[in-house]
Amino acid sequence: MSNKIPQATAKRLPLYYRFLNNLNYQGKTRVSSKELSEAVKVDPATIRRDFSYFGALGKKGYGYNVEYLLGFFRKTLDQDELTEVALIGVGNLGTAFLNYNFLRNNNTKIVIGFDTNSSKIGTEVAGVPIYHIDQLEEKLGDVRVAILTVPAVSADEITNTLVAHGIDGILNFTPARISVPDHVRVHHIDLSVELQALVYFLKHYPLHT
Ligand code: ATP
Repeated sequence: MSNKIPQATAKRLPLYYRFLNNLNYQGKTRVSSKELSEAVKVDPATIRRDFSYFGALGKKGYGYNVEYLLGFFRKTLDQDELTEVALIGVGNLGTAFLNYNFLRNNNTKIVIGFDTNSSKIGTEVAGVPIYHIDQLEEKLGDVRVAILTVPAVSADEITNTLVAHGIDGILNFTPARISVPDHVRVHHIDLSVELQALVYFLKHYPLHT
């Protein structure tokens, strides 16, 4: 079923999932597309189209059944199956991720960290053991997803090592545009560019208040 969902829709799934989970905690059993739209900042028509792929057809005056949607999302997002993640580069940003460790996603967890700094090797950060990058082959095990928080100059070399050890996906926080073979998926997040873009838009395209 999940491979019938368009990619753009699939990308919004975690957004919907998080919001619906919160509603469920609050004991809400249904939600309107307008309410959803305001919360996740996606227009109601897109939400209706997305949800039709999930087999969820909202009823006028009733909205969507929260429990049905959550059940569907859990299955689709594989919430029950834990994906272990490696973090490469235990600097300021990497340490913050280890401390945060995506505790609100119950399906992803950083289980191992790598660095080159001898003061970090052999320690644990928030319970996650840190090894030397040279031990990657020996320690990576079945981990197929990596977060990259190293200096940009090291990004290419580490990427090649990760790819050689069978990584499937990389969340790249370095400004470097890394190149990978077709079977490896890279999502690129450059925080400083995102922040600059926000400031630019605020300056040049102010929202009407
Ligand atoms: P940031 O906030 O970006 O993490 P930082 O100033 O804490 O910045 P950086 O110089 O960006 O540190 O390096 C991030 C981490 O990556 C450091 O802990 C550094 O030791 C580590 N590192 C550098 N080169 C490599 C490498 N080749 N393999 C693994 N870790 C590396």
